[in-house]
Amino acid sequence: MTKRYADVIIDIAHEKVDRVFQYRIPEALSESVRPGVQVRVPFGNGNRERTGYVVDLSEEADYPPEKIKAVISVDEKGMTVEGRQIQIAYWLKSNYGGTTIAALKTVLPVKQKQKQLEKKKVLRCLSGEETAQAAGECERKNQRAKARVLMALQTEEELPYELIRQKLHVAASTLQALERQGYLRIEKEAFYRNPVKAGDRSETRPVLHQAQRHIIEDVLADYRAGHPGVYLVHGVTGSGKTEVYLGIIEEMIAMGKQAIMLIPEIALTYQTLLRFYKRFGDRVSVINSSLSAGEKYDQIERAKAGEIDVMIGPRSALFTPFANLGVIVVDEEHENSYKSETTPRYHARETAVEIASLCGASVVLGSATPSMEAYYRAERGEYKLYEMRERPGNSVLPAVHTIDLREELRQGNRSMFSRKLKELMQERLSGGEQAILFLNRRGYAGFISCRSCGHVMKCPHCDVSLSEHRNGILTCHYCGYQERKPAKCPSCGSPYLMGFKAGTEQVEEAIHREFPGARVLRMDADTTRRKDSYERILSAFADEEADILVGTQMIVKGHDFPGVTLVGVLAADLSLNRNDYRAGERTFQLLTQAAGRAGRGERPGEVVIQTYQPEHYSVVYAAKQDYRGFYGEEIAYRGLVGYPPVEHMLAVLIVSRVQEDGERLGREMTNVVKREMADVARLRVIGPAQAAVGKIADLYRHSFYIRHGEYQILVEAKDRLENFCRERELKGQTVQFDFDPMNTF
Ligand code: ADP
Ligand code: ZN
Ligand code: ZN
Repeated sequence: MTKRYADVIIDIAHEKVDRVFQYRIPEALSESVRPGVQVRVPFGNGNRERTGYVVDLSEEADYPPEKIKAVISVDEKGMTVEGRQIQIAYWLKSNYGGTTIAALKTVLPVKQKQKQLEKKKVLRCLSGEETAQAAGECERKNQRAKARVLMALQTEEELPYELIRQKLHVAASTLQALERQGYLRIEKEAFYRNPVKAGDRSETRPVLHQAQRHIIEDVLADYRAGHPGVYLVHGVTGSGKTEVYLGIIEEMIAMGKQAIMLIPEIALTYQTLLRFYKRFGDRVSVINSSLSAGEKYDQIERAKAGEIDVMIGPRSALFTPFANLGVIVVDEEHENSYKSETTPRYHARETAVEIASLCGASVVLGSATPSMEAYYRAERGEYKLYEMRERPGNSVLPAVHTIDLREELRQGNRSMFSRKLKELMQERLSGGEQAILFLNRRGYAGFISCRSCGHVMKCPHCDVSLSEHRNGILTCHYCGYQERKPAKCPSCGSPYLMGFKAGTEQVEEAIHREFPGARVLRMDADTTRRKDSYERILSAFADEEADILVGTQMIVKGHDFPGVTLVGVLAADLSLNRNDYRAGERTFQLLTQAAGRAGRGERPGEVVIQTYQPEHYSVVYAAKQDYRGFYGEEIAYRGLVGYPPVEHMLAVLIVSRVQEDGERLGREMTNVVKREMADVARLRVIGPAQAAVGKIADLYRHSFYIRHGEYQILVEAKDRLENFCRERELKGQTVQFDFDPMNTF
């Protein structure tokens, strides 16, 4: 029997219409209305035409048939949602909250079909040696972009056009000029699609060491035995994790499977991509935020058509509709950017595990500093754990100096730089080596500490730091506790009780003052606002156009600067005093990664960690590069206070136009949970209180937290709250859910 009715999700993100609406399928459309297609339908009292997504078909009407409206047309330009994507969308909605339409849009990277783009590649016309000479000439004439292209072509006979344009930051006109000069040739699609011969890829493969071979064989053996699992590779930076990913993916492709390779956007560098292009040729594709809709569409279509085997990209690459997915790799799995900051606030790691289980695929997680979540699960046997402790070759871990800033103040040093750091910077400048200065500014806003003794003002109930509000009131954003800011430090009586005000600009000024003539590059949110400026600064630094790179956390991620032999962390504990339970974990990760930036080349590196809390375990273990030591202390603390990953936490944010409305709704919602789930043992409801940032753009923000050992209990609480809000028909207020949040509201 033919299916005569379509279940449609209307493209309106509002709780009130967040359900399926049934429509009749007219005879003429009986072929084209299928699950996943976009349709135009009449909606509401005025029968306004709206777009919707068909999620299911049925034979029976759920209402009297004469009351059911008919589908108007199928939107031929709309992208189709694959059946599996619909399943994933429902999973996202159920596990992270939000509307179905928001979830559907999340799994659909491009909404509209686009014109296909041309594929191009760049081939060199001269020998490698001649190309190198030409590069040298350009260098002398200060034609840096041309030099970059020719340098890259010196070792590769051909490169994908988009790789050069995007990752080497070379304008199309520069490539055309090089073509006119006879150095290279740009070829179009027909050639590009020719399979690259294995020999042409000319990759020098290292002979894998025992640990690498073991992981690859183990993962594949499970897969072949029909038990794909989740694996965590804990290996210091440079220990050879990427080689492991390449090995697993290669075997998967040989079995006719495809792979998704997640990399934090910030680490999608030329070097990384080149390794994949070299191994897999044009069977690799990249999707990232700098692509236009047309380019994204093109990549998705190639994946659907089976033209590529590997999709590389940040979070959103997860939803690539491959027909035979074999493995999802999540590199740097601890990265915060794997958590979405818009509804549904999904975590790519958890979502990868779900998608893999739907597709019968394996999941490989990798990190030098695994998230507490991943390591905890590995310890409990949910993930299989592999450790890679050594770097191949003989590069050694750097020497670390921990400097107590309180002592510097006592010695009369009021500069941002400790005496040790100054001394080492001077050494580097005279020796022609490079240094990185890292200002850990994440979440520094508001916290108050004593500049004399390091004492931090904390909430007596929550063990998180208090934040200063403009009126001089210190507030705890977990429980709402408040106190007036004291005039003197309660611990030592010093009057220097204040926030840390230095930004990267001030650091740059201080360098110019103390080291006149030093060439400085600065990288922070201000200098990287323009597209590509991030990588331009990094390439300039890699080309040794500056002696010192100053920056925020962006500079410590996975970049290799062989010339850097000194890393200075200006105030290690700034991130410790964030009012949030992940502060210790973040600090440890940042410090460990920052330290890992020093001495990646031939020369050994040194690291200076300046801090007011040299005895804090995050600082101590980072200085020793001791992950297990850190993990042991941190997990004990999380267990003691009942924070993730030991227990789970649901954060609820209420945004309201009128302050009192938000307060009242917060009380009502917490009461709903307390009343309806009174029989659930050990369910904790904390708040409501004003959110960390109490008002943004004239909208008031209140939040509360629910904690329990079982995730599903929190899902149930979310469902009850969503029902409550739907019935209340909120006006001028919105509610957002965040499970196991990365940041507190
Ligand atoms: P990670 O991903 O852990 O940072 P990579 O896989 O990028 O590590 O390896 C770091 C460097 O060591 C790379 O230049 C890589 O080519 C090289 N390398 C990896 N495995 C080996 C090996 N078995 N023998 C020699 N060199 C290796
Ligand atoms: Zn003090
Ligand atoms: Zn508190």
